[in-house]
Amino acid sequence: MEFDSNSAGEFAFIASLAAKAAKAPEALGLADDGAVLWIGDGRKLVLVADMLQAGIHAMPNASPAQIACKALRTNLSDLAAMGAEPAFYLSTICWPKGTDEAQKQDLIQALAEDQKRFDVVLIGGDTIGGSTPFTISITMLGWASGPLLRRAGAQIGDDIWVSGTIGDGVLGLEVAQGKASPAEDTDARFLRKRYEYPEPRLALGVKLAALVHCAIDISDGLIADATHLANAAEACLCLDPDRVPLSDAARHWLETEADQDGAMEKLMAGGDDYELLFTAPEEKRTQVQKISKDIGLPLRRIGGVIKGQGVRLGRGGIPVRKPGKTGFTHF
Ligand SMILES: [Mg+2]
Repeated sequence: MEFDSNSAGEFAFIASLAAKAAKAPEALGLADDGAVLWIGDGRKLVLVADMLQAGIHAMPNASPAQIACKALRTNLSDLAAMGAEPAFYLSTICWPKGTDEAQKQDLIQALAEDQKRFDVVLIGGDTIGGSTPFTISITMLGWASGPLLRRAGAQIGDDIWVSGTIGDGVLGLEVAQGKASPAEDTDARFLRKRYEYPEPRLALGVKLAALVHCAIDISDGLIADATHLANAAEACLCLDPDRVPLSDAARHWLETEADQDGAMEKLMAGGDDYELLFTAPEEKRTQVQKISKDIGLPLRRIGGVIKGQGVRLGRGGIPVRKPGKTGFTHF
């Protein structure tokens, strides 16, 4: 999520670039979370890239170590959304001139810990000193041995599912900015951690690949990313706000808001949750619930795919209204 957004936006830029420069089948029309190379023995090499900058994707005073971990994790989240397992990454860093050595050592240490945790290895990159705030771009490579998860493929009648909890990212940003101050310190710490150190749903992505119709990771907000799935399928995703899963911390925040519908929509529109959103036919419910149990990650049905287009809010697959907020676009 960016502190500033320009509605002309990233999506139009990608669409025009896709039309001109990315015609190779490996680019998947720039319409998915990554690109793919078919290696020949049935394996697929999935490539994703993401860039973060202090003051844009993180607080201006955020530590380079924290921003680097988030960059690693947002890339891992894109791999999860493709149903791939991480293998290698390249990192390109621009350090503001005069950065002290301790910050660089902190970053190396933090990335080493995350590398170990997520079983991914650095294989190259570049480092420069520059006049911009701290910036890191990561390109990550992962393997998919089964079918790829794609954004297109939602079918009328599908259930819509989401992992984990929604809205923690936007509240965590507000805590970091000092705009939200939860009564409980534990809530503040939890929300901030969810914003700064997202948890890529890698185990889930791999297990969903052979089972569900489509998936995306929630980076721009539940509503915006649901819109991507809807557009790719030329169908409507009808989301039930009452069923959207919230953390205790988000629920505590919601309880203090006067406008409940507006507050709920804010959680659904906010970015940086890095949960997986996917659709699957009704007959797969038991299998989806088994995956949830096997990997110890809550999965919740939050609506259904219906005829139409875009995203609607409603109950029982009956659309009531358009969401008022549509998430964040980049620059
Ligand atoms: Mg993504």
